[in-house]
Amino acid sequence: MLNRHILINRKTIILETILTITNLNKVYNKYVHAVKNLSLEIHKGNVYGILGPNGSGKSTTLGIVLNVVNKTSGDYQWFGGTMQTHDALKKVGAIIERPNFYPYMTAKENLELVCKIKNIPFTKVQEKLEIVRLTERMNSKFSTFSLGMKQRLAIASALLNDPEILILDEPTNGLDPQGIHQIRDIIRLIASQGTTILLASHLLDEVEKVCSHVLVLRKGEMLYSGTVDGMTNKQGFFELKAKDNIQLESVLENHPSVEKITEDDGKLLVYLKSDLASEELNQFLFQKNIVLQHLVKRKHSLEAQFLELTNNHQSN
Ligand code: ADP
Ligand code: MG
Repeated sequence: MLNRHILINRKTIILETILTITNLNKVYNKYVHAVKNLSLEIHKGNVYGILGPNGSGKSTTLGIVLNVVNKTSGDYQWFGGTMQTHDALKKVGAIIERPNFYPYMTAKENLELVCKIKNIPFTKVQEKLEIVRLTERMNSKFSTFSLGMKQRLAIASALLNDPEILILDEPTNGLDPQGIHQIRDIIRLIASQGTTILLASHLLDEVEKVCSHVLVLRKGEMLYSGTVDGMTNKQGFFELKAKDNIQLESVLENHPSVEKITEDDGKLLVYLKSDLASEELNQFLFQKNIVLQHLVKRKHSLEAQFLELTNNHQSN
């Protein structure tokens, strides 16, 4: 099915599917199972992060859908299967390797050469150089560029044909903090203009800062897929303190929303399995004759979630 229709407030919002991956597997050299039964959907307008430690199969997955790595089994489909992979990839901008241009040509000349090869009007060069903030340096030779500038030029180049989706593999690797900041700003700018983005990263804060959606991979397996907000909101926890924490704990143990309770520095940390508002909890306890001295609701950071997810899946 090409589109999913969702009815919100009587308006139909069409979620255009950019990429569908179904039960994808990749085995290198007969025994390295780099991607395990991966299924996912990429919808137009979102910024997706594939998050996972080194070796979790991120680059392999991107390589397969970009047709530079052969899959072992499973399927993927671009744009709802309306076109052949070869044609579909003309609507995809991707940077999966270190940026490489002609060193003795300027930034502008390099991009104009890409335009010639891909039959794109030269007017796009200026437009894309502005997005990546390289207009001032457009007449400098590529060889004089810092790694951050090279990466930005690569992004400009990938954007020349106004792709439907931009794919980036570890876009800030090797950059200094300022370079990292610039790239993240540019990614957010491109996303705000409506381009769908799929980026792979082993950095939690990168995904948290620039992505709307996250797919967590570990050893080729997907552990979580959903919104970044959903992941951070999913299992909030309370910090509670009462005069009698033992009584408090015994009352809480029977509450249907409570997953587990631990103690830290005289406070009970109450982890939730379903959402529970502070007011609701407070009222519940008050009815059981418990008056709280301290109540704070906290959310796990994505980092805590990520560590929890990866620690809980060490089955092989
Ligand atoms: P990531 O991008 O998440 O770091 P990769 O997709 O590069 O992960 O690698 C996933 C697994 O596949 C790793 O165990 C890696 O060693 C292995 N791998 C990647 N490329 C090859 C290859 N060309 N030949 C053999 N094994 C590979
Ligand atoms: Mg990689």
